[in-house]
Amino acid sequence: MMRHPAEPYRIKMVEPLVMTTREEREEAIAQAGWNTFLLPSRKVYIDLLTDSGTSAMSDRQWSMLMIGDEAYAGSSSFDRLQSAVQAYYGFPHVVPTHQGRGAEHIISRILIDPGQFVPGNMYFTTTRYHQEAAGGIFVDVVIDEAHDPHADHPFKGDIDLAKLERLVDEHGAEGIAYVNHAVTVNLAGGQPVSMRNLREVHEFCQTHGIVHWSDATRLAENAYFIQQREDGYADVSTAEIAKEMMGYVDGVTMSGKKDCLVNIGGFLAMRSEEILVKARELVVVYEGMPSYGGMAGRDMEAMAQGLVEALDDDYLAHRVGQVRYLGERLLEAGIPIVTPVGGHAVFLDAREFLPHLEQDDYPAQALAAALYVESGVRSMERGIVSAGRDADGRDRHPKLELVRLTVPRRVYTDRHLDVVADAVIELYRKRETIGGLRFVYEPPSLRFFTARFEPLQVPTGAGPEVSPTRFAQEPALT
Ligand SMILES: *Cc1c(COP(=O)(O)O)cnc(C)c1O
Repeated sequence: MMRHPAEPYRIKMVEPLVMTTREEREEAIAQAGWNTFLLPSRKVYIDLLTDSGTSAMSDRQWSMLMIGDEAYAGSSSFDRLQSAVQAYYGFPHVVPTHQGRGAEHIISRILIDPGQFVPGNMYFTTTRYHQEAAGGIFVDVVIDEAHDPHADHPFKGDIDLAKLERLVDEHGAEGIAYVNHAVTVNLAGGQPVSMRNLREVHEFCQTHGIVHWSDATRLAENAYFIQQREDGYADVSTAEIAKEMMGYVDGVTMSGKKDCLVNIGGFLAMRSEEILVKARELVVVYEGMPSYGGMAGRDMEAMAQGLVEALDDDYLAHRVGQVRYLGERLLEAGIPIVTPVGGHAVFLDAREFLPHLEQDDYPAQALAAALYVESGVRSMERGIVSAGRDADGRDRHPKLELVRLTVPRRVYTDRHLDVVADAVIELYRKRETIGGLRFVYEPPSLRFFTARFEPLQVPTGAGPEVSPTRFAQEPALT
């Protein structure tokens, strides 16, 4: 198979992009408090902030929008979504939510008693927030390799069964709310979980009577990695692999904004009728009727169609291949990135990129800001800022201090990714000129979304063209 297959689609409609000057970008990042989340999108040339809700829909998805059934109750669009989930994931019950975190909120309230532990293969920001809000205590049980940006492991997202066993030994099965098995693991760099690991954790959970849940947000991309890497799956379609994966968990939370190729939407799906009843009770309060859960009928139609399109082998070979293309261009230039490259993003290792900065100087945040000023490319911090504070108010210091270059699905061409690679390479050449940051506003939760920063003092040897040093002398901007 080709390493970088060309697009298995052609372009039918275009969205013009806005080019900006360096001066405009310097002003924009200062006004955004050095937080790329706060940049207006009209000031962004290539937007790699996230692959969430940024997918390009197909002509079929757009046509499904027209036949959405907007009935308040009993919408046939819900039936279509439920049928797609049943057919492709194998769960009998579906509860729609406005997006993934709506589903996380509901399942956390159902499965967690205050003080219980919630083991998971690394945390995801909104997932852990809802687990903790429900009184749960998140415990990371991912294999050690996931925390090593250069460990060469085909399934870096796997749960370490020994860590899970130890937790259950210590606290008993009744001390565990549920096991959350994310496929793929976003914060580890989009790293996949093996079928074997899903099966083993499933057996372990069954033996101990523990609920085995999955964050299936990136299920399709994980299925592709199993097809490419795991013995016995080379000739199995990704759709069949995905269904087998889902056979090893009791239910899922899903953000449709990723592997369902839509701009908004999500759901819970499960086998248990008991969980279904409770989820329906909660969805009415927080999201909407159980037949729409915060989505329009047309959104459910587009998601039902996208769920199927995402499990197409040619689509996935191109999708994951395009991410790998960006990673390989950076590796060839000696840029420190997380390897192996994951399914949806390339992660720059900000510790290695900016060795002159301490983690408390927010190197990944500073690097994301500098990349924007350099090129108009928007990326995202995934390090100490995203990790937030612990229960005692202390900064968590994650091992990984990363900048995420997230590739939206079916949106950019390889030429766009060349622009990104060239900008990162140029920035690496003059990396000593990038200084650290400090907080000027820190919100109490999920701080990375809305925090504001200002540059620390001028780093020695900084060139005059470098933005953080220039702005250090300017009056504070609101
Ligand atoms: C995006 C994401 C979520 C949250 O979903 P939203 O739709 O953004 O609320 C949860 N888990 C993972 C792994 C995600 O990537």
